[in-house]
Amino acid sequence: MRAGYFEAVRVACFRNDCPEPQIEKPDDVKIRIRNCGICGSEVHAYHGKHPFRIPPIVSGHEAAGDVVEVGPEVKDFRVGDRVVIEPHYGCGKCWYCRHGLYNVCPDKKVLGAGGWSGALGEYVVTPEKTVVHLADKLSYEEGALIEPVANGMYAVRNVGITPETSLCIIGAGPIGIGDAICARLWNPKLIVIADISDFNLEKAKLMCPEAVTVNSRRESLEETVRELTGGVGVDKTFLAFGDEPTITQAMAVTRRAGQVVQHAMMEDGIGFCYRLHQQHELDFKAFNMYQRKDFELICRALAKGKMNLNHFVTQRYPIEQFEEAMHMADKRPEPVLKVMMEF
Ligand SMILES: [Zn+2]
Ligand SMILES: [Zn+2]
Repeated sequence: MRAGYFEAVRVACFRNDCPEPQIEKPDDVKIRIRNCGICGSEVHAYHGKHPFRIPPIVSGHEAAGDVVEVGPEVKDFRVGDRVVIEPHYGCGKCWYCRHGLYNVCPDKKVLGAGGWSGALGEYVVTPEKTVVHLADKLSYEEGALIEPVANGMYAVRNVGITPETSLCIIGAGPIGIGDAICARLWNPKLIVIADISDFNLEKAKLMCPEAVTVNSRRESLEETVRELTGGVGVDKTFLAFGDEPTITQAMAVTRRAGQVVQHAMMEDGIGFCYRLHQQHELDFKAFNMYQRKDFELICRALAKGKMNLNHFVTQRYPIEQFEEAMHMADKRPEPVLKVMMEF
């Protein structure tokens, strides 16, 4: 099959002879991929810096396509269905899986890692429980964007947003914009989005028009938040970019007894201000990926026109140009929010 392939560290190429995955288990669904987004984790994998996306590999997990074959025990899908993949599943047996926390199962499988051929290949085989129907009126490209946005949906619905909530999002990449467009479904009274890129802030504004955007390279985020909240700080701050200065900044803009929500990729050994954490009685909550319900909620919001992903994709390439696409995602000769592959 055709695939974007990481042959070795810093070697991305197109191949048309990658092994096509086959149905093996009775609940397997085989999907012909139509669109697959390139994630930050692919850039890490490309540089050999991802813990479990290790070349040689067919990576990719932000995908939508058509069902082309189903195993004998598949119930809810048939050939021709348009679908999205929730690209992970738990072992089904451990304490976490039995308590509905399969996204933190120690033995979970992630698409495009650990021998599971990913969605940068033309075909993917995946268990039925990871497959979600894509509404007819939604495009495959919108379908492929559900995965990055689902990170935000999972965080937002778990911390709870009401019309009384004020929130700040640090980082206006795909994860931060996902936080914003999910949070706004609950009509919070204030959304502040901070980044150091005007391009990303403009994108954030297009998809979340009511947000106040702050370029924290030029303006003080702390001052802006203070002015907008009567000196108190926001109820919740979402960390969609993770390093030590942004953690410190998040703690400075969050009100006492407020919440810092972290789902950025964070490196080991980053310092954390435990003194403020205790003095301000902050709640520090982290999230790892998402669950099926998040895909369903986003599908519904998109189908009802309550969410708009039209401004998300910045570059599109046929899979044959995987090398060029990876160069764009990695070196960014022009501003990038999401690079999208087409099959
Ligand atoms: Zn991703
Ligand atoms: Zn498990």
